[in-house]
Amino acid sequence: MITGSSASSHYSQHRQFTGVPTKCWCGRKITTYCSQTDENPFRRFYRCEIAIQVPGNDEHLFKWIDEALLDETRMVDAKLMKLVDEVKVLRNEMLSSFELQKKRVLDMEEEMKEKIKEEMMMANATIEEMGRVMARKSMERAGITLLVVGVVGWVCGKLMS
Ligand SMILES: [Zn+2]
Repeated sequence: MITGSSASSHYSQHRQFTGVPTKCWCGRKITTYCSQTDENPFRRFYRCEIAIQVPGNDEHLFKWIDEALLDETRMVDAKLMKLVDEVKVLRNEMLSSFELQKKRVLDMEEEMKEKIKEEMMMANATIEEMGRVMARKSMERAGITLLVVGVVGWVCGKLMS
């Protein structure tokens, strides 16, 4: 552990890093140090390697470790809340889709019943029509029979005379 003597609030705050940093924005590695100021005694922080070698260089990453960890916790919390929201949305979507499905099945049932009723009515009409045709046919046949009988009778009558 290297001890830094200059770690305090005077570090540039114009570039903020959220969460636990892995490297400085200059591309260099970061190291953890321990503050020795009266303001923050023994408080640990992340600092760019370059910044420690060149004192007074405020353009490099500085972040308190406890703040970084707090950031991480908040980020995890936010992710969790987002996840909970997403699950709620998903649940609602599933429920409404289920309702829709149920309604669709009922509609289909209703449609099938209608169709069957129509088919039955058509079949009945066809049967009735067939019955009428058959009745007419048999009447025609009866008519022909009468005609034949009449003709035969007339011929017989002629022959007998
Ligand atoms: Zn740097």
